[in-house]
Amino acid sequence: MEFYLKASLKTSADPVVGKEDIEKIMAEAEKTILAKGAPAGEGAKIKSWSLSDKSIDVELMSGRYVRVHDAVMRLKKALAEALGKTHKIGIRGLDAEVFTISVPAEHDLKNKKIPYVKSVDFNDGNLLLTLDVGEAEMRNQVPDRILTLVEDKMEQGDYGAKAEHWNLLWESEDRDFHYSEDPTEDMLKQGWLKRGAGRGQWIHGPVTTRLFRVFEQIVVDEILAPLGYDEMIFPKMVMWDIWKHSGHAKGIYPEMYYVCPPKTRDPEYWEDVMDYYKVTHEVPVEMLKDKIGDPIGGMCYAQCPPSWGFFQGETIANDSLPILIFDRSGTSHRYESGGIHGIERVDEFHRIELVWLGTKEQVVETTKLLQDRYMHIFNDLLDLKWRKAWVTPWFMAQEGIAGVAADEVTGTTDYEAPLPYRGAEGEWLEFQNVSINGEKYPNGFNVKSQSGEKLWSGCSGVGLERWTAVFLAQHGLDPEKWPPEVKKRFGKMPKQVKFL
Ligand code: ATP
Ligand code: ZN
Ligand code: MG
Ligand code: MG
Ligand code: MG
Repeated sequence: MEFYLKASLKTSADPVVGKEDIEKIMAEAEKTILAKGAPAGEGAKIKSWSLSDKSIDVELMSGRYVRVHDAVMRLKKALAEALGKTHKIGIRGLDAEVFTISVPAEHDLKNKKIPYVKSVDFNDGNLLLTLDVGEAEMRNQVPDRILTLVEDKMEQGDYGAKAEHWNLLWESEDRDFHYSEDPTEDMLKQGWLKRGAGRGQWIHGPVTTRLFRVFEQIVVDEILAPLGYDEMIFPKMVMWDIWKHSGHAKGIYPEMYYVCPPKTRDPEYWEDVMDYYKVTHEVPVEMLKDKIGDPIGGMCYAQCPPSWGFFQGETIANDSLPILIFDRSGTSHRYESGGIHGIERVDEFHRIELVWLGTKEQVVETTKLLQDRYMHIFNDLLDLKWRKAWVTPWFMAQEGIAGVAADEVTGTTDYEAPLPYRGAEGEWLEFQNVSINGEKYPNGFNVKSQSGEKLWSGCSGVGLERWTAVFLAQHGLDPEKWPPEVKKRFGKMPKQVKFL
């Protein structure tokens, strides 16, 4: 890895009068200011320097430490002090005439359109990035972020776009299933639900709704009440600022539903739209595009990010920890690709999300208790065939940063179950997850503990559509054949609307 910068420091007068001072700074810099903070010998180097009548020009090289854009700021400061004091010469600004980063790489980049990057060239096992940055970008670490971005892209390319790191943790015993229909098709025939007007959206009739509530109540009775989780209501329109702090802003765009406010709520401003509709009975979508504002964020994608607004910037008392909370106040929305025919992959879905926050030990312990309760529910109450698997940390996948957690504590456990109608080789369905997110959220939202100990957090998304899809696919639609606990809680079949 090599950084190269040819910079021109603009002076307010001919710098030649200060040549001796400049020489002294340039001669010492590699041992002093350009070495500070780097391992021995790994600071930035001055390749050459020269004076013109309006500038001090310098060529810098560096590796990972004291990168050239930091190095040039340090030089600028030292030069400005020396020239200002004795010669009353100021340094007005700084131009990066050439700025390149050379990174070892196995292959070229697919997409070379990167902000502030003029060109990307692949040659002899190296990517050469030519940057177009000014002083402000150099000060704001833009070159560092470009490098991180390119490294992530290369890693992601090597890792494969879709593939998830996957390790089996536990699997229940094999069994035979007495039912092998696609439950969505079956439910449609029985009139349990209907398709909503929107993509991947369903209208649940009394039967599936009752089943959702049965599962929800099992979670309340078996987990939330005994383990002491308190209910909260998290916002369901999520502003960019939340997703900036949570990290979702890095990659959520293809899957989110966008939220745009009207430019004004003045009815006069909207009169032409209303009139158009009244005359044509068509909603003038093109006309709307001009009248709505830019997206302010999106519909809830994962429930937990907006909950962090409650803790943001706070220091939490020791006796409040661990914090155990949950939300079931609204829908989540995702623009899903393909396979949205059934209830298992939908654009509008219902979840309970649990969030816990505490010291590392508290978070790890809370997660263990939770996993034990889930084990009891799926084995003893829902009587499912299922398995647990260790997968790529969900935030890494969602943020587009592929990778595998270095330690085996932070990361995600997926709960998966086979759908018999898909056949013995069919893909198993993820019906929920449990994640330990380490310091990610407390850091992202600047949350501290009274003791000063680092805070950790975890979350778990219980997908009610997914529980229902798995339960019905394995047990069928006849409540008589359901496991006793579910049958008992479900009670008498609700009255169905008869359509003639
Ligand atoms: P998948 O791998 O199936 O796309 P995911 O990993 O994207 O799911 P998460 O972001 O982990 O999903 O969300 C947590 C839980 O929310 C999932 O385990 C699942 O129960 C539920 N869920 C996610 N996406 C959907 C969807 N499109 N329809 C129904 N439930 C969903
Ligand atoms: Zn979460
Ligand atoms: Mg998904
Ligand atoms: Mg998944
Ligand atoms: Mg998941």
